[in-house]
Amino acid sequence: MSFAASVLTLYPEMFPGALGLSLAGRALGGGTWSLEAVQIRDFATDRHRTVDDTPAGGGAGMVMRADVLARAIDSTAPQGDPRPRLLMSPRGRPLAQARVRELASGPGVVVVCGRFEGVDQRLIEARDLEEVSIGDYILSGGEPAALVLLDAIVRLLPGVMGNEQSGEEESFEHGLLEHPHYTRPQEFEGQPIPEVLVSGNHAKIAAWRRGQAERLTRERRPDLLGKA
Ligand code: SAH
Repeated sequence: MSFAASVLTLYPEMFPGALGLSLAGRALGGGTWSLEAVQIRDFATDRHRTVDDTPAGGGAGMVMRADVLARAIDSTAPQGDPRPRLLMSPRGRPLAQARVRELASGPGVVVVCGRFEGVDQRLIEARDLEEVSIGDYILSGGEPAALVLLDAIVRLLPGVMGNEQSGEEESFEHGLLEHPHYTRPQEFEGQPIPEVLVSGNHAKIAAWRRGQAERLTRERRPDLLGKA
């Protein structure tokens, strides 16, 4: 069964975007996953096809209407659709590899992309949306965040990465950042490749890589160490 992604957006032209190329694009073409970009505006009912309105209580910006989004969600993922419903949101749980793995092992995702100041809170609760953040910064819309999320998921789908093993050794998979990489030329601007890597001693190489991964993680992301 192929992984089915539905993205609700005011800019369906942004999809598949970068996901139409490289590994993800090949997998999309080959049917390993599918992508449906749903225009939220198609679910507006007034003459101007309004999707947003001014914030209750006043203040700057606009808020996406609950009723329009609810119709878009109900049409895309009717009751009984087993896919988790996500809302890209800077207030969400920060996306991490463990959640990416869970999502990749499921039937697919329904992803709502916010715009303006965000979406009416009642919609988030009524449709039980899981808020997902891709980091502590503000994007102008949820679309780039959805592309990031889907890229991370799709590369884990069976058969997408040529060398399955290369998925297991990445940063975060073992609670550590990955070790540094080197390739030819043997010497670059006076710097040789670390000797152990050209020694042919696989046990020593593995130990060196593990040590480097631990050192980098300690220096850069000590917060990860407790979880390892
Ligand atoms: N006013 C909001 C930000 C709205 S940004 C606040 O201060 O929290 C507009 C939309 O971009 C959001 O609804 C969300 O869908 C998306 N977005 C912005 N930053 C994001 C992030 N870090 N992760 C995921 N989605 C994000």
